[in-house]
Amino acid sequence: MKKQFAVIGLGRFGGSVCESLAKQGMEVLAIDTDEDKVSKFANIATHAVVANTTDENTLQSLGIRNFDHVIVAIGDNIQSSILTTLMLVEQGVKSITVKAQNDYHEKVLNKIGAHRVVHPERDMGIRIAHNIVSKNVLDYLELSDEYSIVELMAGKKVAGKSLVDLNIRANYGCNIMAIKQGEEINVSPNADDFIQQGDILIVIGADTDIQRMERSLF
Ligand code: ADP
Repeated sequence: MKKQFAVIGLGRFGGSVCESLAKQGMEVLAIDTDEDKVSKFANIATHAVVANTTDENTLQSLGIRNFDHVIVAIGDNIQSSILTTLMLVEQGVKSITVKAQNDYHEKVLNKIGAHRVVHPERDMGIRIAHNIVSKNVLDYLELSDEYSIVELMAGKKVAGKSLVDLNIRANYGCNIMAIKQGEEINVSPNADDFIQQGDILIVIGADTDIQRMERSLF
């Protein structure tokens, strides 16, 4: 059976989550208080309804507890976001992801039992800043305060070398998880695999180790 998702709040973030889920073939219920937004998503989502999710009866009548995953993407109205999340938790929704506006909002959401809190603007800001500082860093995913996954573009210094030549694990304490060559992706690179200029290396490690490696090899 297809997984069922509900997206509450159809602003820029919620709207794009909804569209992407629908494109991936998922069943999506799109919810917003704004009629115009709901009608915009009528042809994109499986169902689209005008509803105020701070109302407990409304949530119950939508059968929200039966959804596999609910995404709360209510933007500026932090009070509505918190209240909605609280009721989703109380109704026993299995998986709840909420967009936070700021650190205080995030703290409250974690306290009341949101399963995942996302900060799209902050996270995108961090990723873009890493890409601006070093043009070899194509993407950046923060795993924790200390650890990250980065995508690095192989330049002249590493081109023509094998993983054993570079010995990245011993020299820098990082691991190359995968190598992308054009459309192909090698998810279990061997020690004798060669790197070509323009390949994209997906590296996991501590931020300090990744930076050390980036400075000397990229
Ligand atoms: P973004 O920053 O992602 O664009 P917005 O603040 O523009 O976010 O959008 C949030 C959406 O959430 C708006 O379309 C708004 O109508 C909707 N919304 C706000 N409160 C509620 C609520 N209680 N129930 C359902 N939808 C809501």
